[in-house]
Amino acid sequence: AIMTSSTTFQPVLERIAEEIERTPGRGRPADYIPALAACDPRSFGMAVADLDGTVHGVGEWRRPFSAQSLTKVFTLALDLAREGDALWEHVGREPSGNRFNSLVQLEYENGIPRNPFINAGALVVTDRLHTRTGDASGELLSFLRTESGNPGLTFDQEVAASESGHGDRNAALGHFMASYGNIDNPVPTLLEQYFRQCSIAASCADLALATGFLARHGIRADGTRLLTRSQAKQINAIMLTCGTYDAAGDFAYRVGLPGKSGVGGGIIAVVPGRCTLCVWSPGLDERGNSVAGVAALDRFTTLTGLSVF
Ligand code: GLU
Repeated sequence: AIMTSSTTFQPVLERIAEEIERTPGRGRPADYIPALAACDPRSFGMAVADLDGTVHGVGEWRRPFSAQSLTKVFTLALDLAREGDALWEHVGREPSGNRFNSLVQLEYENGIPRNPFINAGALVVTDRLHTRTGDASGELLSFLRTESGNPGLTFDQEVAASESGHGDRNAALGHFMASYGNIDNPVPTLLEQYFRQCSIAASCADLALATGFLARHGIRADGTRLLTRSQAKQINAIMLTCGTYDAAGDFAYRVGLPGKSGVGGGIIAVVPGRCTLCVWSPGLDERGNSVAGVAALDRFTTLTGLSVF
């Protein structure tokens, strides 16, 4: 059945939550930093936001979790809005097929990362946004607060410190790209910005609302334009092809929506022209995507008939 009105989402969400509740096997929370390892894999929340900012949810949909790589979508949008296509001289747009924190391709491609959603690419985007704004993570936080309507959103200092204490791989990526001249700022400055960015805590409701500009073809919550229609399409396309680590093919197959996952167990997804979703459950599969999160989005597109295909 095709859903027509937003109020009809609530029963769908409740049905999905019941199904998820009955499903055993939730994967394992990320354990590379202690702050994430402590999460309960049975936690689950899901929210759907309409184009006009009406939001429906189920489970722990108002509980803040670690946004992590979901933030890469927003820094990309903020930077693309400022510098336009010049960004693409510094980062590519192809799926990587390697792990999100991989170094190997960088050497063959002269320090130009494959896409903006692997760590190397996200570091380039944050670097460029930092050059343009003087405070990339502050710019991001302020955007998320405005779009979600939640002025209480903030950095989680414990997560940021934890990332920084286990940041050798990201430091290596930063220095390696700097050796090719693809990083502007001092690498320690960039890393501090990037770890603050990843540490932002927000709920499914906050993140579904903040993603709304991608469903509104570039229009922010207040009606002003952030991105051109083409740029919004471009970001949705990159989410579809590169947004869920090296499982983007399987995510497109199962869910059929542009999506971006993070190691905190969150996934944001876009139905262009219709609505945005955010689901959270901290148990991850071996490729780093939330097990219950992907399952819930799979059920959502199946039950509602909403997908980009
Ligand atoms: N802060 C994490 C890292 O860079 C983000 C990973 C992710 O969510 O993919 O290792």
